[in-house]
Amino acid sequence: MNLARKKTKTIKIGNVLIGAAHPVAIQSMVKCKTSDSGRAIKEINYLEQCGCEIVRLAVKDSADASSFRQIKRKTNIPLVADIHFDWSLALEAIENGADKIRLNPGNIYKRSQIQEIVTALKIAKIPLRIGLNSGSVKNISGRKMSMADKLVNSALDYIKIVEKMGFNNLVISLKASTVVDTVDAYRKISKCCDYPLHLGVTATGLPGEGAIKSAIAIGALLLEGIGDTIRISLTARPEEEIRVARAVLRALDLRHFGPEVISCPTCGRCEVDLVGLVQEIEQKIIQVKGNKPLKIAVMGCVVNGPGEAKEADIGVAFGKNDGLLFKKGKAVRKVLFTQSAAALLKEIKRANG
Ligand code: SF4
Repeated sequence: MNLARKKTKTIKIGNVLIGAAHPVAIQSMVKCKTSDSGRAIKEINYLEQCGCEIVRLAVKDSADASSFRQIKRKTNIPLVADIHFDWSLALEAIENGADKIRLNPGNIYKRSQIQEIVTALKIAKIPLRIGLNSGSVKNISGRKMSMADKLVNSALDYIKIVEKMGFNNLVISLKASTVVDTVDAYRKISKCCDYPLHLGVTATGLPGEGAIKSAIAIGALLLEGIGDTIRISLTARPEEEIRVARAVLRALDLRHFGPEVISCPTCGRCEVDLVGLVQEIEQKIIQVKGNKPLKIAVMGCVVNGPGEAKEADIGVAFGKNDGLLFKKGKAVRKVLFTQSAAALLKEIKRANG
């Protein structure tokens, strides 16, 4: 089943298009200081290798803002300047080549300041993300309302302000710290505007629980066709965010990124070290060139193994010391367990041409 995506505007961020029918783009954020341009460049280039398509950098002062010029020269993916409190830093980041600005309506709200930023964005022809967070959202109406409504109302007010300034090159995000508030907020805003939505849950935690929270919220929204770009926020190394983002998109059949390993959970019938083997394959598979969405099944025994392996492009089901190798549903030959990782990688490379 193909998921129907909600129709949104196309927005260009550097060389990446988001919204409309464009692929859901993967974002992450640099964890080192932006002013340390050498480290930031290394981190961004590594993130790109892992599959990151847009990257955001914190801009706390002028040193961070001016670092954009150097970083842009030595990196390929679009750079987003993350601005809070000091509106003038947005102007500096734009001047130094930022491909998009993220503003937080919770701490940059003076019209004269927004106007100056919008004027600079128009001249540079780059978009703005109106990025709300539950931790800093303001409720100027004073009325009692749910977190989702606070986020949505605040976003709509800000959208109105910038639209009145003749600017609509916008992306919107409404990140809450709970799955329920996040899903509620994005569902509501998606009915009120057609700007692309950047999905994310804020402050999720360590990779285990954090990935689950993000996958539930972002997955639920994507299943409804809501969302044009995603960021999995984790208290972890940034490449972990990309790994989870890819897994979410792949699980929903929205995007594929080369070979995917599926394996059984193992049980008392398994007579080989399947966990170790799958870990070895996962590590080595990253180096395989080619983006064919191959399904690789690694199964612990002959009960369900051959059936599952037959469904995959390449598969193996193990007995005691060896396994039966399948290709496109057909058993092709036996392989010794000790040689099975190498045999599978050879087949994956061959299938990739
Ligand atoms: S495939 Fe075999 S070893 Fe793996 S979980 Fe199923 S029965 Fe157990």
